[in-house]
Amino acid sequence: MEKLTQRERDCLVAILSVNSEFPIRLSEIANKLSVRSPTALNVIKRLSEKNLIKDKGGMIIVTKEGKKVYKEIIEAHRCFEALLTESGISLDEACKQVRKFDYLIDPNTASKVLSHIGNPKLSKHGRKVIVN
Ligand SMILES: [Zn+2]
Repeated sequence: MEKLTQRERDCLVAILSVNSEFPIRLSEIANKLSVRSPTALNVIKRLSEKNLIKDKGGMIIVTKEGKKVYKEIIEAHRCFEALLTESGISLDEACKQVRKFDYLIDPNTASKVLSHIGNPKLSKHGRKVIVN
């Protein structure tokens, strides 16, 4: 698949990180990304072109492929966040830095590193490292 941009990555993560049974609204996405609605709409369009989400009349639905890519991003994020925090970097700082590359890392690399550091079950955020 075509690589994501930082903003597309943030958008996909924002959509799937919402703890709600209702689909996220465009205005909420814009809010989370700190951009205006037209910009958010553009990102949504690009994500739909990559077949990661579907925009059904303002309702954002994540496709199977989108969920797979999200899972890979989150695994890489938690893996490298664990590495950085274990090296003495604060969680906030680790989280901020890992965001910049977690979506570019090859999933096989992330899973090798995860097993090398003993497959930690929980990330420092207290969430599961492997998401289903
Ligand atoms: Zn984080």
